[in-house]
Amino acid sequence: PTSSAAPSTDAWIERDAAAVWHPFTQHSTWVADEPTLVASAEGPWLIDLDGNRYLDGVSSLWVTTVGHCHPDINAAVKEQLDTLDHSTFLGTTHRPGIELAEALIDIAPQGEGPQLTKVFYAGDGSSAMEVALKMSYQYSTQTGHSRPKFVRLTSAYHGDTLGAVSAGGIDLFHQTYRPLLLQTIAAPSPGERHEGIDQDDHVAACTEELGRIMAEHGSEVCAIVLEPLMQGAAGMLNYPASYLQAARRLATEHGALLVCDEVATGIGRTGRMWSVEHAGIVPDLLACGKGITGGYLPLSAVLAAQHVWEGFLADGSTTPRTFFHGHTYTANPLCCAAALANLRIMREQDVVGQAAALGERLGELLAPLRDHPGVKEIRRHGTMIGVEVVDRGPRTGFEVCQAVRGHGVWLRPLGNTVIVMPPLNLGEDETELLAGALIKGIDEVL
Ligand code: PLP
Repeated sequence: PTSSAAPSTDAWIERDAAAVWHPFTQHSTWVADEPTLVASAEGPWLIDLDGNRYLDGVSSLWVTTVGHCHPDINAAVKEQLDTLDHSTFLGTTHRPGIELAEALIDIAPQGEGPQLTKVFYAGDGSSAMEVALKMSYQYSTQTGHSRPKFVRLTSAYHGDTLGAVSAGGIDLFHQTYRPLLLQTIAAPSPGERHEGIDQDDHVAACTEELGRIMAEHGSEVCAIVLEPLMQGAAGMLNYPASYLQAARRLATEHGALLVCDEVATGIGRTGRMWSVEHAGIVPDLLACGKGITGGYLPLSAVLAAQHVWEGFLADGSTTPRTFFHGHTYTANPLCCAAALANLRIMREQDVVGQAAALGERLGELLAPLRDHPGVKEIRRHGTMIGVEVVDRGPRTGFEVCQAVRGHGVWLRPLGNTVIVMPPLNLGEDETELLAGALIKGIDEVL
């Protein structure tokens, strides 16, 4: 609770509206939509200025793993802060950067495909994808011939920078920025649902089409780019392992790389450390971000196969073969320290196992919604859940989330799909609260 002299929530929102331009936000409705002013957080809870507590049902946009302000991550960041705040990764190196790369290689997925042996750092999911795209193209030029095209899936989301938008499949973004985009070939997404078409038949047709695209264009394609088994931002569109396995085979067959974007699915989110593990495959480049620091600080990474790394070593020719990429804050030690602490807690407390159990439990608790007249479909991959509600206008999903907020849970929709993606170590009481609030919210609106 705030003292009477302190500015009220309304006063803060007024100042916000006067000075701040928010991401992916239409500001003509921003204030009327009553944004929550988050004052503090602990564990799975967000706390507003008036002391109201909301369960963080979307992990602050899919990043929180072991809870907010976890004492061990806080301590690790504070200790790092007293030791080394920052030094460039260009020409110097540091312990947290080295140790985190080793830790990521240790937990890299195993299966059909190459060993992932090198780590390139970036700052967020989008920039990890820029790294993967630029690496794929440059690799093709240095190891054979220039392959300027990417195969992408419709409905995909890989971020909002231009390369990431190009590799994505959100029509609105393509329409808006078309003249600025890279060369891509769209393959139909196996995660999409089409009225009256059996899902298995759809997946089989998509697999066949990917084969046809690669047969026709394979020699111009440097990479097949996809979100493994779950297209998150499209509204949680899951698809079976067989498609991912086919993509792995086709990429290898045609000399292209397979780029898996595990920015949302990685770091335990699906009940395995990596979503590709459910399919037993390994990509040539794996991008991760979001949960890597436990949701504390901006950091992402691309795990690269040894053969990709070798394609960038000087070969005595006039081509420098350097990877021309790197940002001022690449591998910031504070971010690396947070990530190391997060991965240690996850290992010591089997948080990936907890996530698998949490996903199952949420699946059980939300099962009654399958028969609800207001619900079209529930899609789940581990703790990534989308509850698609019937379309009573473009803001139906938003209205459900507002109603759920009245029951102490903070959710955010994607269109008319309500996303549920809580911290991975959520306790039983909070899990029941989350599911109960969503059911009540849907009952109230639909
Ligand atoms: N890739 C995937 C699969 C994502 O879900 C996201 C963000 O939601 C991104 C990339 C972009 O990450 P960021 O928002 O950190 O740039």
